[in-house]
Amino acid sequence: MRVVAIVVSLAITAVAVALAVKAVKDMVAVIRKGQPAIGRTDNKGARWANMFKETLGHTRMLQWTWIGVMHWFVFAGFIFLSSMVLGAYFQIFDAHQALPIIGHWVIWEWPAELLSWLTLIGIVYLIAVRQKNHPRSLGRKSRFFGSTFWQAYFVETIIFLVVLCGFTLRTLEYAMEKAHGADDLTFHYPMTFFLGDLWDGLSVDTMETLVYTIAMIKIVVSMTWLITIARNITMGVAWHRFTAWFNIWFKRESDGSTALGGLEPIYIKGKALDLEDMDDLEEEDFAKLGVGKVEDFTWKGILDFTTCTECGRCQSQCPAWNTEKPLSPKLLMMGLRDHAYAKLPILGQDEDTLTDEQKTELERPLIGNAEAYGVIDPDVLWSCTNCGACVQQCPVDIEHVDHIDDMRRFQVLVESNFPAELNNIFKGLERKGNPWGMDPKGRMDWAKKLDFEVKQVGVDVEDLDEVEWLFWVGCAGAFEDRAKKTTQAVAELLDMAGVTFAVLGDGETCTGDPARRAGNEIVFQQLAMQNAEVFKETKVKKVVSTCAHCFNTLKNEYAEFGVELEVVHHTQLLNRLVREGKLTPVAPTAETETKKITYHDPCFLGRHNQVYEPPRELLSVIPGAEFTEMPRNSEKSFCCGAGGARMWMEETLGSRINVNRTEEAIATGADQIAVGCPFCRVMLSDGLTLKQSEGAAREEVEVLDVAQMLLAGVKRAPSAEETAAVVAEAEAATSSVAGASSGSGGPDEVTDIDKAAAAASNIDVDDAGSRTGDAPEARSDDNAPAADATPDDSATEETPAEPVEATATSDQSATDETPAEPVEATATTDETPAEPVEATATPDEPADDRDASEKEQAAWANVGPVNADLTPSDDASTGSTSEESSSASAKASGDKDPGDTTDPETELVPEESDDEPELPATKDPDEMPAETVTGAPDETEPVEEDAREEEAGIIAVEDVESTADPVSEDAAPLSDANPSGADLSKAAGAGDTADDEDEQPKS
Ligand code: SF4
Ligand code: SF4
Repeated sequence: MRVVAIVVSLAITAVAVALAVKAVKDMVAVIRKGQPAIGRTDNKGARWANMFKETLGHTRMLQWTWIGVMHWFVFAGFIFLSSMVLGAYFQIFDAHQALPIIGHWVIWEWPAELLSWLTLIGIVYLIAVRQKNHPRSLGRKSRFFGSTFWQAYFVETIIFLVVLCGFTLRTLEYAMEKAHGADDLTFHYPMTFFLGDLWDGLSVDTMETLVYTIAMIKIVVSMTWLITIARNITMGVAWHRFTAWFNIWFKRESDGSTALGGLEPIYIKGKALDLEDMDDLEEEDFAKLGVGKVEDFTWKGILDFTTCTECGRCQSQCPAWNTEKPLSPKLLMMGLRDHAYAKLPILGQDEDTLTDEQKTELERPLIGNAEAYGVIDPDVLWSCTNCGACVQQCPVDIEHVDHIDDMRRFQVLVESNFPAELNNIFKGLERKGNPWGMDPKGRMDWAKKLDFEVKQVGVDVEDLDEVEWLFWVGCAGAFEDRAKKTTQAVAELLDMAGVTFAVLGDGETCTGDPARRAGNEIVFQQLAMQNAEVFKETKVKKVVSTCAHCFNTLKNEYAEFGVELEVVHHTQLLNRLVREGKLTPVAPTAETETKKITYHDPCFLGRHNQVYEPPRELLSVIPGAEFTEMPRNSEKSFCCGAGGARMWMEETLGSRINVNRTEEAIATGADQIAVGCPFCRVMLSDGLTLKQSEGAAREEVEVLDVAQMLLAGVKRAPSAEETAAVVAEAEAATSSVAGASSGSGGPDEVTDIDKAAAAASNIDVDDAGSRTGDAPEARSDDNAPAADATPDDSATEETPAEPVEATATSDQSATDETPAEPVEATATTDETPAEPVEATATPDEPADDRDASEKEQAAWANVGPVNADLTPSDDASTGSTSEESSSASAKASGDKDPGDTTDPETELVPEESDDEPELPATKDPDEMPAETVTGAPDETEPVEEDAREEEAGIIAVEDVESTADPVSEDAAPLSDANPSGADLSKAAGAGDTADDEDEQPKS
């Protein structure tokens, strides 16, 4: 038996090692086909530290506590028990042999035995989790929907068998030593000795034979694993054990943070694209504006695809997937990986040597519908809200958002193939400097009703040296009715607190966020360069913004334009003012109405910038507020559906993201849904109006910005006794801010629609939701188009192939030619019911016992937490209600038609104008809220050309239109191209990410 064991073990090892070496070489060759990745090797010390922290500490895995713990057992077991496999090679030669030197040391034996048990527990637990959450019962609600099940089963089985063999060998070693009369056996076999006694009665010869046999089995099982993964280099569930180390080391942010916040610029030949250098670009460089082919991804992108473990954490949190859209970040990664490994090895190979399938793979369009045999369906690409949940969840640091937006860039800048609705915002941004195409002259309208002067740079102050803050109003804050109320509230609060600030007025243009997230990097750069120039001229250093998208863009993306800004969100600044005692919340009185409040985290404030606590702390000091969290909150908050320029796109697939989120907010029983972003406010207001019209939400419920709630709570100054009471309540409320686990979902079937969703990412699944088949090279000829199949006809016939040229930068500050008067309210409510409170409070010094979030918050503010030393103002006046209450009353009167787009509260009526487009509807008019001014810019009455356009000539949506409308209004919308799209709403219910506590990330 010994000879057989030696021959079999060595032979299979030789084969396995040879195949593994070839597999590694093949994998490296594929990854090296990617483009250069910039900035991936800086700050090496931090990268090493982060890699060890994330791998050895499992810090990202532990977002799902118990699964993270169990995976750590298996991970540690894999590393440590590999040495036990090595020991088996000695045992096939001599049954009494152990690992040289350390084999009989207790410092090796004890951990080996402990980890064997922990690995066994871990793998059994993970097998149970996979079965409990199998798509056969949960359908697409299962995070494993679309994963390759045979691979997972194979890996689980191998680990189980290796551990089993390890235990058997340990017990045989014990039994043999016992037969030889050895002492201290329980000391050397502390956790297996009781099993070793089972071999009592066997002769030593028999036990030696068993050792040879089991050691051989252990080696054969291990080498079978190695051979299998060597033959399947797209088997991420196994390969991530090796590739994850590299993927984490080379992650975008060397400080260990996730690839969120700002987007990376387009790199051409290793240099960031700069509009001013566009003339220097060569013709072939224009094809590098984004990712149009899989080889256009950087090598890090391909390493990302390679590393995906198919765990589905990203999928479980994705708002698109949870509302039955075809986008799953996991399936996206799997589809790109399969295509990369099918195409890149044969790229450049002599055509005569290729099979028909290989030729087909070479010619597949990266973006294309099923008919065009595209790798990624356009509906997948454009469903993304850039919410970042996938990036935040991914345990191996895959950078989904960057990849998605890189592909969007190519579709917009090179293919000119994008959802028709984006035409409007591109036009508005280019011509008017805002996505709605509103007259820039109206940017100061929001300030007209305030009873104090709002200083405007260039009018009231020369530059920002004269005031402390630039109040960045933002396009929504200037033009959107509900957002304007937030703008007014923040201005009032700053004025009340004695904070000096100024606004840019019509000198402000969009930050460019919607353009960049929609893939239009050229328009983004135009706007950013223009704003950066204004910042430099007016000496802007400190910026406060009410819009989470503006906040993110200014904070994280403007440094590349030469401006270093200190950017804070208004909730951060207001929180600081409350802490400093410059804003004093009133104490609740007997008359104070208790309101239940919940808070929706804007993705671009929370996940993208980790601002979670300041808004919550503000809500905790609002008089009479009873705070409650939604199940999905903070890091795992659910998107409102407006990010990634989705605010301006129709949501025709699946159910509505904003409604899903609104239902969750309503279910908390909250009277007020607090937000910190105008986009969120629009989306949740829309959702609330719909639910109220259906009778599914109380009419009293309202959506308000945190600033409005605070304003209503600080207008009456409290007495000393009241202050003490409010502080006590604040402390109690702060401590009550806590998350809860997500809801549950019932069993579901895998429908054809679900399969179609998976197919949109080139993933085939069976009736149980398990992925079937192999990488695309194994795709059936029955479904594959001919080798010479033409890519997406709808794209090629209707869109020009020429790249969009950028030749000049427009000056969007020129507004003189816009004749229309600003929109005015013909009737208003009493918006300033109470006198402002003078800031008289003097806070104590910061307490040393601040928690981590407070310290982080105070880092830029250098102030202490809210504490019991808030000193009341003497200026007591009667309490006031939010102006939104009147809105709620109007709704409560029952005279609201959800389709009514006029504002019952202010009856905003856009003034007639020949050239001024109305604010476009963001969503289905049937679901528009009462307060939103609606009406898409009339395509038959294009936005008036102004001086800027004449100078512009860049990206020129109009250039595109002049040749062939990229996605013409006549053309079928992208969603129509998805055969599964229309029926997706029939799929599994929305919102539930998993049905058991174990499946939920830690709150
Ligand atoms: S960014 Fe959000 S919407 Fe986009 S794929 Fe990731 S989770 Fe889904
Ligand atoms: S992308 Fe990340 S989170 Fe999503 S399945 Fe792959 S490894 Fe898991």
